Amino acid sequence: MAMNPNPYLTDDLQALAETVRRFAQERIAPGFLERDRSRTLDRSLLAEMGALGFIAPELPEQFGGLGMGSMAAGVIHEEMAKADLSFSYLNLLASLNSQILASYGQPDVVGPWLEKIVAGEAICAIALTEPSGGSDAANLRLRMERDGDHYVIDGEKTSISAADQADICVVFGRTGAPNSGAHGVTALLVPMDTPGITTSRFDCHGQRAIGRGSIFFDHVRIPVSHRLGEENKGFVQVMQGFDFSRALIGLQVLAVARVSLDEAWEYAAQREAFGQPLTAFQGVSHPLAEYETQVEAARLLCLQTLWLKDNHLPHTSEAGMCKWWGPKLAYDVIHQCLLTFGHAGYDRGVMEQRMRDVLGFQIGDGTAQIMKTIIARHKAGRKAVPA
Ligand SMILES: Cc1cc2nc3c(=O)[nH]c(=O)nc-3n(C[C@H](O)[C@H](O)[C@H](O)COP(=O)(O)OP(=O)(O)OC[C@H]3O[C@@H](n4cnc5c(N)ncnc54)[C@H](O)[C@@H]3O)c2cc1C
Repeated sequence: MAMNPNPYLTDDLQALAETVRRFAQERIAPGFLERDRSRTLDRSLLAEMGALGFIAPELPEQFGGLGMGSMAAGVIHEEMAKADLSFSYLNLLASLNSQILASYGQPDVVGPWLEKIVAGEAICAIALTEPSGGSDAANLRLRMERDGDHYVIDGEKTSISAADQADICVVFGRTGAPNSGAHGVTALLVPMDTPGITTSRFDCHGQRAIGRGSIFFDHVRIPVSHRLGEENKGFVQVMQGFDFSRALIGLQVLAVARVSLDEAWEYAAQREAFGQPLTAFQGVSHPLAEYETQVEAARLLCLQTLWLKDNHLPHTSEAGMCKWWGPKLAYDVIHQCLLTFGHAGYDRGVMEQRMRDVLGFQIGDGTAQIMKTIIARHKAGRKAVPA
């Protein structure tokens, strides 16, 4: 189904969405259920996406991108997510990490990796969370000790998306004193085949094809040339990157809600009970109408956030709104759609898988409570909202 026109999506962006939709429906959608079972992502499909320019098109041309602006990334994320949220996670990792690498990496080190990411030949994970906690991210403990022209990493990162599939990873560790908080954190680009790295894989509820796991570091030596930004300044950089990914996550999960709503309307209009279509009963149609309203509104908020980013205007608070509202709303919408299908919705299939998939984003990339704290700080000031 074509998108509603709106002020954010030019004819070119609508045409891009149409091209991506065709690819996603023909090439990605058919494997949606099977990927959940096999828990593998087909790398040749990723390379096809890269060849078509569907990975991080917002990157400047010097890094292999198309210099298209983040709205292009937005429409690609939407169309890929409609086919398979796990697959669109690859778009998300590429857009989030490429921005960090391009902004803060040494060009001769990050350049070749960026070209591979955009070509769909490499996956870059991002590792912030640790066994001791994820919400209080500034309190991370993974040690990074300077040893001449290397850093030596020891410790564990956990709950990392694509941990066992990634070729490289943006890793955040403590280079400052143990109590240095946000000001003692450094980011490194870590090739995942470096000696001393091992990974595990969890048995996830959803997003099973991308998967999550731990990364263990045992005396892992990384050249100083692989540092992203300045020593002890890593934390500030990643937070900026998350503003982008939070708007993209909103668009991804709302796109899954959108297809679920479309299918639920179609089903309810043709299935009969008590001699009438289900839509004749307001108990069926009004919840769908309410969610129709909210999904439209939330999507516009996400597009507005990308528009602010592209216009170099502040958007941290709006990104927080996208990130808490989108995943919560999408989950509730898909739940309602599943119920609309009656017993058929409860079978293993697209609806229940979508519900499992979107739930992950109520936690990953920061929970709703943390997002609301970010918004509250923006409104009332950091002093009035200390934690
Ligand atoms: C699908 C998925 C993908 C993920 N991918 C990645 C990844 O690629 N890289 C990565 O680094 N991490 C990743 N994570 C980890 C994720 O970022 C963390 O799980 C998240 O930040 C929460 O941290 P935690 O699980 O340690 O919970 P905790 O920090 O222990 O929090 C537990 C609960 O307490 C609440 N809470 C904590 N502090 C406060 C507070 N101050 N006020 C109110 N409530 C609070 C939280 O909201 C949460 O509900 C992923 C997680 C999931 C589920």
